[in-house]
Amino acid sequence: KKIIITIDGYSSCGKSTLAKQLARKLDYVYIDSGAMYRAVTLYFLQNRIDWTTTSAVVAALKDIHLEFVPNSLTGMSDMYLNEENVEHMIREMLVAEKVSEVAAVKEVRDFAVAQQVKMGARKGIVMDGRDIGTVVFPHAELKIFMTADITIRVERRFKELYAKNKQISIEEVKQNLELRDYIDANREISPLRKAEDAIILDNSHLNLDDQLELVMQWVEDATMA
Ligand code: C5P
Repeated sequence: KKIIITIDGYSSCGKSTLAKQLARKLDYVYIDSGAMYRAVTLYFLQNRIDWTTTSAVVAALKDIHLEFVPNSLTGMSDMYLNEENVEHMIREMLVAEKVSEVAAVKEVRDFAVAQQVKMGARKGIVMDGRDIGTVVFPHAELKIFMTADITIRVERRFKELYAKNKQISIEEVKQNLELRDYIDANREISPLRKAEDAIILDNSHLNLDDQLELVMQWVEDATMA
């Protein structure tokens, strides 16, 4: 039997790392819901769309086509925005700086969530984000809510970004994480929350192997239930 696994939590807790590990191990499809908000943000920035104006947002969303396209090199999917691979571009700081503002817009969330819900028609998926266990898949068989100490999260994200861009500073990364967490947890529409039936996973002091072993046990339990 295949199930739906949701992973929510703060920025840079290692949600996508865990989700990818699980997808590989279980032969599930991994869906990075944040990539969709990032792609919409990229489009808004590129086309100078004012996301504080509802009519502008509604019109722009009509011109946005998002697709996850499998990448045989990574075994995962790349985010395509209007037939263009934007997987790398959406990870840049310019997008990270604005994505939480864009993701707080109701029309943007409706647009993304509707597509995410459809992807759940097939079981055997693991989706990470902020509202997956609460809003997108409230009936998922296994819900995980991840946290980790802020200093550890900053370090992890800094290493990841620094590998690609030596200009980046620790302070900049820290500010971005804190700001996004604040906006995500305090927005009006589906704020970042732990679903009541989610299991908390604090991985501040867990290595990846131990974490996977622990979660695989939860998967087994949820699959049997
Ligand atoms: O997961 P990631 O850090 O790539 O997500 C980028 C941003 O997209 C988050 O900070 C949040 O503002 C938004 N997001 C969201 N709901 C989701 C996934 C991401 O609001 N399900």
